[in-house]
Formats: sequence, structure tokens, C-alpha cells
Amino acid sequence: MKGIFGRKETDPDEIPSEIEEIRRAVMDRQMPEPVEKILLKEVDKLSKISPASAEYTIGINYIDYLTTLPWGTCTDDNLDMDRAEKILNQDHCGLDKIKERILEHLAVRLMKLSAKNTILVVDDERLTRENLQHVLTREGYEVSCAEGGARALEILETRRFDLVITDLKMDKVDGMTLLDRIKAVTPSTEVIIITGYATVLTAVDAIKRGSFHFIAKPLKLDEVRSTVKKALDKGAGTVDIKSPVLCFTGPPGIGKTSLGKSIARSLKRKFVRISLAGMRDEADIRGHRRSYVGALPGRLIQEIRRAETCNPVFMLDEIDKIGQDFKGDPASALLEVLDPHQNSQFMDNYLDVPYDLSRVMFIATANTVGRIPRPLLDRFEVIHMSGYTVGEKVNIALRHLIPRARKDAGLDAFTLTFTEGALRKIIREHTREAGLRELERQISSVCRKLTRKHLKQPFPPQTPLEMTQETVEALLGPGRYHIEIAGAKDRIGCSTGLAWTETGGEIIFIETTRMLGTNRLILTGSLGDVMKESAQAALSYIRSHTELFGIAPDFFNGQDIHIHVPAGAIPKDGPSAGLTIAMALLSLLKKAPCRRDTAMTGEMTLSGRILPVGGIKEKLLAAKAAGIKTAIFPAKNQADIDEIDESIKKNIRILFAGELSDIHDQVLAAT
Ligand code: ADP
Repeated sequence: MKGIFGRKETDPDEIPSEIEEIRRAVMDRQMPEPVEKILLKEVDKLSKISPASAEYTIGINYIDYLTTLPWGTCTDDNLDMDRAEKILNQDHCGLDKIKERILEHLAVRLMKLSAKNTILVVDDERLTRENLQHVLTREGYEVSCAEGGARALEILETRRFDLVITDLKMDKVDGMTLLDRIKAVTPSTEVIIITGYATVLTAVDAIKRGSFHFIAKPLKLDEVRSTVKKALDKGAGTVDIKSPVLCFTGPPGIGKTSLGKSIARSLKRKFVRISLAGMRDEADIRGHRRSYVGALPGRLIQEIRRAETCNPVFMLDEIDKIGQDFKGDPASALLEVLDPHQNSQFMDNYLDVPYDLSRVMFIATANTVGRIPRPLLDRFEVIHMSGYTVGEKVNIALRHLIPRARKDAGLDAFTLTFTEGALRKIIREHTREAGLRELERQISSVCRKLTRKHLKQPFPPQTPLEMTQETVEALLGPGRYHIEIAGAKDRIGCSTGLAWTETGGEIIFIETTRMLGTNRLILTGSLGDVMKESAQAALSYIRSHTELFGIAPDFFNGQDIHIHVPAGAIPKDGPSAGLTIAMALLSLLKKAPCRRDTAMTGEMTLSGRILPVGGIKEKLLAAKAAGIKTAIFPAKNQADIDEIDESIKKNIRILFAGELSDIHDQVLAAT
């Protein structure tokens, strides 16, 4: 965004007019009074220093920045829930439960935002009543009037108001009597008394009897506005907009950002997004003090200024990825941004005056909740999104990704279709992901290649372009991924596990071997501490239960056992591989191969009990994608499995295990 006053080359004669121009620009712009005062002071300072100095440039940049911030410029919210629902459905396939939760969240938010504070104005002078009603309605309050105390009491019998503004001297029922009656019946209703006959004594008396304030006539509009605002901020009737911040969690490419965009579209707000990944410095959030020429505000204020509105939908992407070596406390800086009690006075170091962020709708995204600081997590309403099945991906590709890619590649004039087989081939052989990013890229790649072909040798107009498994293979080349399980041989000492990472579910293999040695347990494959301990616990459990499993009690004597988890460059950790490690060891010691097509997950205790683990849906999806026939889960995860859609549980056998001994026969193939 450009500043509003471009700097000219310094010409001493022109300086006064430049300063005047700046002063006028500051006064013309809508901004809170205190900010205007500060800026005018800055302009005065500028007029006294040399335009050639760095200080002058810093000052002018500062004034320019503040003058062009959207101080009170907001877009009007669309409060139509049907439209919001239609847009969410238009932009996204499936995700029914998630859309439901978003709509509920929006409904509550809109309800709170649309609830106006109610004010009753009581005065026997028609002009005062009408003036106050006009001014306060423009401030966004719902204002009713009564022409005297008696009429006010009648109205108050039927409904409650957040605030009553009453004249003091009125026939029959005067302001003080009205005040007493209101405080006796609805003490949470605030009362402001106005009068042309103000004396200190009556003012003190009114305050003692519970009135919020006492304003003398003739009324000054600014005083009325600010007193009303203070009274309503204090009162119990204040509109509470403290609703939690939505936080979408799940693997990449699953639609978190695009849901945020749809929310903005459905509310008719602007959408802005910053990624917190790798942010290292509190100044990224709060900005730098303007002590040098290049100093800038933090990213929040920068984006708000770019959006040119003070109420965009603001996505804080990858909130779990804030740099580990963050200077300062990211949680407290972000809390100040997200807390509705603090963010109306957000202090950016560069601005040096509070900026009201309370009208911004913040949405956060994260891959996992594990690394989000606890105080922040408490402010979030976490909505977890898991990966898509192949069927869901095909559906999304047909309805959203292909039409978009066709348009982007300039193939609008052609009917482009993909057969289901072609899409399944792309998904299975050219992508390995829980979300849709790679699929989107591959479809775009097919479209671009078609465009290139067309330019080389134009397709006749109206040619239907049908992508089949063969054409996809011809365009994209041989697949990069293959289902590892199909065709793989069962092996002794090697078990198949289900793991869960930030990018979704995964299949892992655990390999074990033994050799002559000195009773050592060797662990390799970039295992984290927790995984190493799981391996030790699994070995100890088997050593102490040799009889149960029919193994020689002294199998460890004079031997080394080596456990390896391939893909050694990728660090792995977590307790959920305990069961898989134990099965690999049992297979090794019993010399019975593990079934490759049987995958498992579960934490194992020293007594052989299997404890529940996380990421169940992602693990099941990964198992299906890898061609696993039987998946074994901890018995205590049965409720998670029950919640999963039946279509995902089709064509895979699911077993539950409470203890290692429950399932080892199912996993070990007959020798
Ligand atoms: P994330 O923010 O989770 O990494 P994105 O929102 O960038 O993911 O989504 C990646 C792509 O997949 C986008 O083009 C998005 O429109 C599309 N997408 C994801 N989920 C859906 C869905 N349920 N329906 C339609 N398109 C989707």
C-alpha cells in the first residue's frame, strides 16, 4: 500500500507546504482523537528539524504509516447463516462434522456481535430526547425514549435496558426516584443522570444512590459518547464477544487454509494470513521501535494495513511451528493478540499507540496440538481434521481440483475428464499424503502437459480430452510410490507398524536380528528417547515371560540383539511402536515370520498390557493405502474406531488387543 504523501526532493522553500500537507492529511483522516493528537505533535516536531536529517525521515514515515492505518474502517458482516452454509458447501466436499462445528461457532459469534446494547433516554424536552437518540443510534446502540419518569417506569416494567439516561427534574416521577426504582429492581442496569441544575451536592447524592455518572447540561456530545461507552463497558450488560478462537489442526493439504478463506467469504470479510513457522523474534509480532529508518511494525499490523480494514479474518498459520529459539515469549505476545480483554489495546512497538484488534476474527492452524503452548491452547476451540480416503480424494479432485487446474492451464475450451481409474492411479502411485497438495500438483502437471501438447499440435476444437490410466502414465511417467505390502515376503524378526506423524499416518517396519555378543541391546534408526525406552521395555517383558511364549529362558546369554527402524535419516519417537517392537522380537526369538500384511500400533507396559494411542484414523487410512489386510489396535482405542466412518473400515480386518499374548498368534505366520 502506498503512503498518502509522497516525499519530494528536499527544497528548503517547499518544506513548510509539505509540513502543512501532512498536517492536513492527519486532520482529514478518521482516527481516534488521542492518535490524532500524538500525530499532530509529531508534525510540530518535524517542522522544527532539518528535512535532511534521518530523524525527519523516520518521523515522516511514522506519520505516514499511522495515517494510512484502517483505524475505524470495517467491512459490514454478512449475518446470513444460510449463505455461510452454502459457501462452505460450495468450496469443500465432505467435512460435514467440521462444517457443522464451524457454522455453530459462526452462529454464536454472529449472535453476540449482532446483540446491541440497549439504552432508554428519559427527558421531558423533546429536542434533547431526539438529539440523544440520533447520536447514540449512530454509535450502534438500540435506543428507546420516554417523555417522563412515569412513562419510563411503565416501559421498564415490560423490558430491561443496559443503560438509562435520565433528566433530573421532571414532573411526577423525577430522575432520583427513577434511579432508586431501577436500582431496586434491576441493579445491573446502569443509570446516567443529566441536568441543567447541577450542584455538587446533587451529583454526590446521585452517585451515592448508584448512578454511574452525572452530566451537566448543555450536553457535550463527546462527553456523552465516552461516558455511555464507559458505563456499558463496566456494566453486566456489556456484549460479551469472548468466544474461543478456532484452531484447525491436521496434516498439510487437508483444507485448513481454504476453510479459513471460505469463512471470510461467507462473512464478506477480507482474508489475511501470516505463517508463524520459524518466527524467531517477538519483534516479528510486535514490531521494532522506530529508532532507525528501516524500522517496521509487526506482521499483524502490516497485514491489517494491507487489508485496509480493521476486521479481516486473520489466519495465524502453523502456530505450532513458532521457532524453538524464539526471542521473548511467543505465547504471551500471541495471548495479547488473541485475548479480547487485551487486544482492543494491542501495543505494537512501532506504532507506540494502542491499536484495536478486537474486531479481527482470528483463526489458527497447526499440524499437531502437542507443541502449542498451553495458555494459548486454552483459548482455542480445536477442530481436528484427519486425512482423506482415496474415495474422498477422487470426489474432491472431480469437483474442485480438476475444474480449477483446467482453468489455470488455459484449457477452458476443452472438455477435460479423468476416469476414476486414472485418478486412483495418480493418488496411489504419484502421491503419498494425507491431504491433497501433491494430488493437486500432479493434476495441474497433467493439465500443463496437455496445454503444451496443444500448442505444439493443436487439438481440433471441441475434442473431449479423457485421461485414463494409460494417458496418465504416458504424461506423468511411471509411478514413484508402490504399495510395499503387496508382494512383500513375510520375514522373521521383521514386523509392520502404524505410525503417526505431523503429515499423517505412515507404515513403518521394525527389523530385529541377533548375533553372538555380550548381552547388548543395540538400537539404530534415529530413535528418540521414548522409542528407545519402549524397545528396552519390550525386551525386558519378553525376557521375563519366556515360558508364556515358549522361548528358551537364556536366549539373551552371550547374544546381542539389534533393533533397527529403517529410513534412518528421519527421527522417530513416541511410545506407540512398543507393540510392534515386541512382535518383531517375538518373531525373531520364536523363529516365526511376522505377517507383512498385518500392521499394529500400541504402547506396551512392562507387564505386557497394551495402552491406547493417538492418530487412530490417520493410521487406519495409511494402513488401507498401503494394502494392509489386518490392522491391530489397542482394545482401549475401540471407541475411536467406532467413531470412524464405515466406508473407511471396509476391506480391512480390525483386531483389538489388550495384551501382547492376545494377538501374537494372529501376527506370526505358521512356520
Ligand atoms: P492446508 O491449509 O490444510 O495445508 P489447503 O487449504 O492449502 O490445506 O488445501 C490444499 C488444497 O486442497 C486447496 O487447494 C484446497 O482448496 C483443497 N482442498 C482441501 N480440502 C478440500 C475439500 N474438502 N474440498 C475441496 N477442496 C479441498
